[in-house]
Amino acid sequence: MSAATHRSRRSILVGLIGSGIGGSLSPAMHEEEARQQGLAGVYRRIDLEALGLPPSALPDLLTAAERMGFDGLNITYPCKQAVIPLLDELSEDAQALGAVNTVRFQDGKRIGHNTDWSGFKRSFEQGLPGASLERVVQLGAGGAGAAVAHAALSLGAARLTLFDVDEARAASLAVELQRRFPAARVEAGGSLDSAMREATGLIHATPTGMAKLPGMPLPAELLHRALWVADVVYFPIRTALIEAAERIGCRTLTGGGMAVYQAVDAFRIFTGVEPDAERMFAHLQALLAQ
Ligand code: NAD
Repeated sequence: MSAATHRSRRSILVGLIGSGIGGSLSPAMHEEEARQQGLAGVYRRIDLEALGLPPSALPDLLTAAERMGFDGLNITYPCKQAVIPLLDELSEDAQALGAVNTVRFQDGKRIGHNTDWSGFKRSFEQGLPGASLERVVQLGAGGAGAAVAHAALSLGAARLTLFDVDEARAASLAVELQRRFPAARVEAGGSLDSAMREATGLIHATPTGMAKLPGMPLPAELLHRALWVADVVYFPIRTALIEAAERIGCRTLTGGGMAVYQAVDAFRIFTGVEPDAERMFAHLQALLAQ
């Protein structure tokens, strides 16, 4: 690299705080897009598990990153809620969701955002255009579930029925979403069989189907051809659910789009530069195929 290039290259230093994030593809996605944009980008994993630290270390880690000149941080399990009291400002959607996955350090302030929901929304708009949101069933009411349900209702879902093995969790998310989206009908539980018979779409937001937790999150017989199926699991990209749905002719959306677009939105927040979403998508697919 010539001295002139070196001088003109803006640097970006970001990272991810979470537990068990050794396999995260975020460093590769962000660093490659930074390189493509002519930025010198470094994305560090700050893994509580690998460091042997409890989640209560979060305030110190945040302060350390800020003092060391990080431009921002992604935040993941188990810190997405715990980080909120440590921030100066929240975007409107992070406030509504009560969860932050992206923090920008700017002008002495820590500003929290949530790009999980916007990532799913964009992936859905792109991958399932025109899909009917009349009657949506969602499995999983955890962290990802809260974000994708918010996205589905923002996209105009008329009726959303949540199921979770932890029934209280599904019920409290339904109450919260109903308050936020009064024009829709949001409910929890009941009969999965009859909800699925009437459903126009299925969103899957439990960890079932991940490489370390293989299998189907519901009996395959409950799928039907008129249904679209959106998965949030993206490792592997083609889950048992996506394959079963495609076999019977459903329109499908893998979790890869959400993974990319949450990174696309975070990249923009960290750098102020518009990333090339298609390039980032192609890169993720290449990473997942390795
Ligand atoms: P979580 O632990 O917060 O929530 C999972 C929920 O699923 C829990 O409430 C649990 O009770 C419920 N559950 C588990 N098995 C179930 C079943 N068979 N039926 C009904 N409910 C069931 O986890 P999370 O952070 O929400 O993550 C869920 C999945 O989403 C993970 O696989 C994660 O990798 C994926 N994820 C993907 C993206 C993406 O960008 N594509 C982003 C975030 C999370």
